[in-house]
Amino acid sequence: MNDKIPYKIYLSEDEIPKQWYNVRADMKVKPAPLLNPANGQPLKPEELEPIFCKELIRQEFDNDTKWIDIPEEVLNFYKMYRPSPLVHATFLEKALDTPARIFYKFEGNNTSGSHKLNSAIAQVYYAKQQGLKGVTTETGAGQWGTALSMACAYFGLDCQVYMVKCSYEQKPFRREVMRTYGAKVTPSPSETTAVGRKILAEHPGTTGSLGCAISEAVEAALTQEGYRYQLGSVLSQVLLHQTIIGLEAQKAMKKYDIKPDILIGCTGGGSNLGGFATPFIGEMLRGEADYKIIAAEPASCPSFTKGVFAYDFCDTGRICPLAKMYTLGSQFIPSSNHAGGLRFHGMSPVLSQLYHDGVFECRSVIQTDVFQAAETFARAEGILPAPESSHAIKIAIDEALKCKETGEAKTIVFNLSGTGYFDLMAYGKFNDGTMGDILPTDEELKGCFERLPKVGNE
Ligand SMILES: *Cc1c(COP(=O)(O)O)cnc(C)c1O
Repeated sequence: MNDKIPYKIYLSEDEIPKQWYNVRADMKVKPAPLLNPANGQPLKPEELEPIFCKELIRQEFDNDTKWIDIPEEVLNFYKMYRPSPLVHATFLEKALDTPARIFYKFEGNNTSGSHKLNSAIAQVYYAKQQGLKGVTTETGAGQWGTALSMACAYFGLDCQVYMVKCSYEQKPFRREVMRTYGAKVTPSPSETTAVGRKILAEHPGTTGSLGCAISEAVEAALTQEGYRYQLGSVLSQVLLHQTIIGLEAQKAMKKYDIKPDILIGCTGGGSNLGGFATPFIGEMLRGEADYKIIAAEPASCPSFTKGVFAYDFCDTGRICPLAKMYTLGSQFIPSSNHAGGLRFHGMSPVLSQLYHDGVFECRSVIQTDVFQAAETFARAEGILPAPESSHAIKIAIDEALKCKETGEAKTIVFNLSGTGYFDLMAYGKFNDGTMGDILPTDEELKGCFERLPKVGNE
């Protein structure tokens, strides 16, 4: 390994990759097709056109094109905050007293505070190309809503965000960032949609859930002319856009002759791990290299480690298409976990197939351990990490400490998907020592698995 590695490895502006990488082209077993819940038949692209933008549907169904050009205007926007640095975490190495080499790719260096802007700007670009007026979406923790607001402000489109009511009330600052970028933010469930009114009538006083906000956002797109719905994770198109992370990381590592042994990312819907790791997974699938890849998920919402690989709905309201994925069941409601971005019952169908094929492993971690790792990282490297990203930090630290025992100098690279400045209530609980972790029981999960749809799973 090159011994003149700078602390922060920056690529130059013109080294930003000009194409996204589609790992599906290299997969022998492709992800299973989306099914129409009404008849169990594979969905046709045109059936999705009332909900999604045409070009994004094309990307969603494209299992064959390996490289997809990034539009010029998207590349232009990327220049505002990309390339993102690959950091050699020398301070953390020292704090852990490990022979391991630790690197992290930092995606928190934009106002949305996460990697989500990489896909938001692409999605809104295609909406603009199609001549649409605006887009609708849901947001839980708020990172995705913020990213989409920023993208809509840039391209001059209207942005309507249904924000889970408890987040809307608990995270007023997130809300104001979105409004500053011009978004209309509605606490969900709301009176503005039929599904919202129905839920409010059935559950007065409910503080909402992601699944309910998705149902409202989809209805809002379907009932307004010139609007479509956009989603911040899970879908194959989102994973595609996020490969900018892994492609930059590959380039930066090549520049300094860094050969990773272990790659780590946290998983909510799978887009940051997928974007970070699939360019490397492609090398594995083509037989060019071998890496150990580890997904880090919360023990309170353990889709990979406790879920089943089956067809399921992506939303609680059961109106979205069926996807084959690792799932805890669409009726599973995770206990309140402070990593809001990881509280999703399902998982990217692409990552699910790769996991099923044994390409990577997954470990679940409990919340207090995650915040302990976040504290160690913050004190050593300066950045206050997002609770979501801290799941990856926890596993990276575990691996580095293993190296300390064995004396091996492995190279560990993880994706730092975002910053935690809007998560200080959670940090407060950790600092006060009042943070706990509620894990789903086998019985609870069994109940959710029994309610999986019959369609696709016979
Ligand atoms: C949304 C989010 C995640 C989880 O989503 P993925 O699609 O799995 O990447 C992770 N980290 C941060 C900072 C997020 O905002």
